[in-house]
Amino acid sequence: MAQIDGLPTLSEVIRQHQLSAKKSLGQNFLLDLNLTAKIARQAGDLTGADVLEVGPGPGGLTRGLLAEGARRVLAIEKDARCLPALAEIAEAYPGRLEVINGDALEINPLAHLTAPIRVAANLPYNVGTELLVRWLTPPQWPPFWQSLTLMFQREVAERIVAQPGGKAYGRLAVLSQWRSEARIVMELAPEAFVPAPKVRSAVVHLEALPAPRFPADPAVLNRVVAAAFNQRRKMLRAGLKGLAPDIEDRLLAAGIKPTERAEQVPLEGFCALARTLA
Ligand code: SAM
Repeated sequence: MAQIDGLPTLSEVIRQHQLSAKKSLGQNFLLDLNLTAKIARQAGDLTGADVLEVGPGPGGLTRGLLAEGARRVLAIEKDARCLPALAEIAEAYPGRLEVINGDALEINPLAHLTAPIRVAANLPYNVGTELLVRWLTPPQWPPFWQSLTLMFQREVAERIVAQPGGKAYGRLAVLSQWRSEARIVMELAPEAFVPAPKVRSAVVHLEALPAPRFPADPAVLNRVVAAAFNQRRKMLRAGLKGLAPDIEDRLLAAGIKPTERAEQVPLEGFCALARTLA
């Protein structure tokens, strides 16, 4: 793709702009433009869509998204050192890339985007999960986004798509699967990144459902699953007693045995419990 967009290779970009990776910003860069284009293709049909990219860094995924036909990309990057490299990409794709220098956790991107909107990001783990939970728990549904295509440590990706009955099943699985369809679409070895992280990574693609699978108030559901999985080894009647004095009756009303543990309860059960507590 270096030839397709006429821009230098990512190794050259990093060298020219002296973008030595900073651990404090969770910087593990993807340098293979074929790989970033492949990730961009996992985000679905980008033509006619605005894409919110969080953490573009030197711009490998940004270039993939633009080359795959995104109508516009809004990229939010915390590290000001990356701005000159991103400006070169904006120049190569006139009118299609806007860059905001700042913390994605503090910026509301909606004023800069027009529907339909897809989200793509390769972010540090803690920022990624924080944003994922925010994107999954707005009061209204459908949300501003049509899909999320996000890179995570593989272990986190497995927690997003996990089914009841195992260790990986928890708050992320319930919140992700309640109002979206979540799949692992790619796995990446540590060597795909520079510097190489210690663990494998995976790309998760979530498509927003038109409506939640089961009715529940998002704030109550979020509180119930956080409490239930915080004490995942305890029986629910003990783990959740802080939520309501008559929690045992409410569990029974929701069709859940008070002696069960959180990881045995399917999504439908948590939604029913959230309704009895709302
Ligand atoms: N997307 C690039 C790639 O795939 O090569 C860079 C990925 S690197 C794992 C994460 C990027 O997120 C870095 O460029 C880092 O500076 C940026 N970043 C970290 N925290 C951020 C935040 N809170 N808001 C916006 N960007 C952030």
